[in-house]
Amino acid sequence: MTKSYFHDHLAVRDPLIFNALENEKKRQQGQIELIASENSVSLASLDALGSVITNKTVEGYPGKRFHGGADFADVVEQAAIDRAKELFGCGYVNVQPHSGTQANQAVFFALLQRGDVVLSLDLAAGGHLSHGAKPNQSGRWFTIVSYGVDRETGRIDYDNVEALALEHKPKLIISGGSSYPREIDFPRMREIADKAGATYLVDMAHFAGLVAAGVHPSPIPHADIVTCTTTKTLRGARGGLVMTNREDLFKKLQPAVFPGVQGSAHLATIAGKAVCLGEALTDEFKTYGANVKANARLLAEVLQKRGVRIVSGGTDTHVVLVDVSSKGLTGQESQDVLSAINITSNKNPIPFDSAKPSEWKGLRLGSSAGTTRGFGAKEFEVIGNLIADIFDAQAGAEAALEEVIAKSRATVAKLVAEFPIYA
Ligand SMILES: *Cc1c(COP(=O)(O)O)cnc(C)c1O
Repeated sequence: MTKSYFHDHLAVRDPLIFNALENEKKRQQGQIELIASENSVSLASLDALGSVITNKTVEGYPGKRFHGGADFADVVEQAAIDRAKELFGCGYVNVQPHSGTQANQAVFFALLQRGDVVLSLDLAAGGHLSHGAKPNQSGRWFTIVSYGVDRETGRIDYDNVEALALEHKPKLIISGGSSYPREIDFPRMREIADKAGATYLVDMAHFAGLVAAGVHPSPIPHADIVTCTTTKTLRGARGGLVMTNREDLFKKLQPAVFPGVQGSAHLATIAGKAVCLGEALTDEFKTYGANVKANARLLAEVLQKRGVRIVSGGTDTHVVLVDVSSKGLTGQESQDVLSAINITSNKNPIPFDSAKPSEWKGLRLGSSAGTTRGFGAKEFEVIGNLIADIFDAQAGAEAALEEVIAKSRATVAKLVAEFPIYA
C-alpha cells in the first residue's frame, strides 16, 4: 500500500470531490436555509460521521454480533440506544435504520402481510411517501386508506379518521407527516386505533427534536410504536430510529430491521446519531427547541400580516406551510424567486392541491436550520419581510423586481455573515 493512501487528504487525492464538497459548504454558509427537513449538524457530529468506525462490519445487536472485533462498535451503539431511551422516555429502541423510510419499512415488515390495510395521512394533506404513496413499496404492497384534513381549518378531521378506521378495519394506523404544521391529538388517535383493533404508529420524523426538547407533546405514552429521523429537528446524522414500550412488539421489530430489511449496521452514522442524541439531552437543546417553535410562529405571523395565507392559520411546530397562490404564485415560482435571493425552500402541495407538482400552490418553510445558526426573533422578522417583499415584487414590474432582488440579496448576505456556520 502506498504511503499516500493513509496520509493524503481528499484535496490532494480527489480534487473533483473535494471541490464539490467545499462548494457545498460555501453554499450552505451563504444562504438562509428554510427547508423544514434540513438542519446543520454540530462539528462533533461531523467528526463522528467521518471516523474510521466506518470500516467496521457488524451484523446483529450490541453483545450479539456475528463478527469479531465489535467491542467499540458495541460502546457506540449502546450509547445511542441508552441516550435515545433517556431522551424520549421509552423502553426499547433500535438505532440501526439507515433512514426514516427504512424505519417505517421495518415496522411494515414486522407487523403486516402483503395486502393488509393501512390508514395514513394523505400525501397532499402532508403525509409521507413511506406511509403508502403509490410509487413507494408501502403503496405497492399494501392496501392504503388515506385520511385528510378539514378544508376550513387545515387540521386533521378526527371524526373522518374514526369513520374510515371503523369501515376499513386497518391493521396499522399512522400519524405524522412531512408538512403537517399542527400538533396531533395522540390520545384521540389511540382511542380510534383501539376501537378499530389497529396497531398505532406515530412517525415523528419532523417534530422529534421538539419532543426531545419538551416543547411538543410526546407520542411515546400513546403509540404502540414511534419512528423518527435523526436528521430534521433532532439536527443529527441522517438516519432513523424505531421505539416502543412494548416488549412483544420489540421482539418483532428487532429482526425486522436486521435481517428483515437491512444488513450490516452503518456504525459511523450510528456514532453520529449517538452524538446528536447526547446533545439533545442538554439544557442548550431545550432552549433551541423553544426558539425553533417561537421563530416559526413569528415567521407565520409576519407573513400573515403581509397578506400571505398560511395553511391552518399558523403553526405548532417548526413548519410553516404557505399558500403562495394568495400572492398569485405557484410553489415552483415562489421557490425560484426565493432562491434568487439566496433563501432556500421547497414547493409543496397544500391540502386539496393539484396532483401535478408544477401546479402546486404550496411552499414549505421551516425554522430549525435558521435557529441552529443563531437567528432569533429579530432575524426571522427580517426574513419574513424579505419573503413578502419578493412575493409582492414578483407580481409587479420587472425593473422593480430586479431592484428588490438586489436589495434582498444584500440583506441576506449581511445576515449570513453575522451568523456564520462551520467558520
Ligand atoms: C423525512 C420523513 C421520513 C423519511 O426520512 P428519510 O430519512 O428521508 O427516509 C419519514 N417520515 C416522515 C414523516 C418524514 O417527514
